[in-house]
Amino acid sequence: MNEVYPLAVPKGRKLRCEVCEAPAERVCGACTVTYYCDVAHQRADWASIHEKICQLLIPLRTTMPFYNSEEERRHGREQLLQRQKHLIELCYKVAQKYLFEGKHEESVPAALHSLRFRINVYGLNSVQLVPAYLLLAEASIGLGHVVQAEEYLSQAQWTVLKSSDCTDEIHSLLHRNLGLLYTAKENYKEARFHLANDVTDIWHAFLDQHIQRQLHARKKPLDILAKEMENDTGLDEPQEAEAVHILGTILEFREHTAKEKPEMTIKILKTVAMLHYLMMNLSKAHELAQKAYLLSKELHYKEEECAALQDLLDLIASKNPVTWKASKFFNNQSH
Ligand SMILES: [Zn+2]
Ligand SMILES: [Zn+2]
Repeated sequence: MNEVYPLAVPKGRKLRCEVCEAPAERVCGACTVTYYCDVAHQRADWASIHEKICQLLIPLRTTMPFYNSEEERRHGREQLLQRQKHLIELCYKVAQKYLFEGKHEESVPAALHSLRFRINVYGLNSVQLVPAYLLLAEASIGLGHVVQAEEYLSQAQWTVLKSSDCTDEIHSLLHRNLGLLYTAKENYKEARFHLANDVTDIWHAFLDQHIQRQLHARKKPLDILAKEMENDTGLDEPQEAEAVHILGTILEFREHTAKEKPEMTIKILKTVAMLHYLMMNLSKAHELAQKAYLLSKELHYKEEECAALQDLLDLIASKNPVTWKASKFFNNQSH
């Protein structure tokens, strides 16, 4: 990716189009450091973002000046880094603005720039790449490029799953996009099946963090304090509503095809149970978790999965004195 944005173009290196990375023959006359394959891409880039960053690119793409001292060199590098960070934000905001206005086509070049600068600054595996992937996915959905959107979203998913320092904000952005994609693909049955599993996995990982935190707290001697720990999904109200809708749709869909891959049915039951528990819909949570538990017993499912479901049932029961007795009875039965 560094090739796309050479800080300086060494002699003999092939010049690439700013938009599509094809060999380039045209150059922007204003900055003379930006290249295009044809006039259409030059115009598209200009209209989206280049007009705003044309002059800012010059210092990034010309040869680094000769420095007299290590101190000067360090300062030069720091300045370059700050410039790139500024461009990351600028391009991101421009792309976002176009998206809000429904101008999906225009938002793509700006979003791509934000992504490329992020890669330059943070590397290919950084969680900092996720917001740009999500913008690109949303623009692709808007343009009806579903496959492309799915590619961006799986990149984003991978990055999120691999990283430990992912903020709640990024998580909920990801869920919003998966929801959009899911809605966009609602007519394709096969795609639905595939995507439903992905969406379930993501939500499961997200909600389970909150559940594990509570379970962990319960094991400590301050049991009473833990019991009073507030339930929180980390999502705002519309996001919760969206989650209930998306996961509810997947659950319904799964229940019709429960014969295939029953482990996915268990997972979606558990995921929706966790969501309802965190939203304090305790009886719904209890009902779903119990279904998952019974199904996993029936299938002689992995022991640690059964145990996790039992933990969840206990946690739900601990907040609700009515289900508490039933759950105790139920758990004793299973031993
Ligand atoms: Zn091009
Ligand atoms: Zn230019």
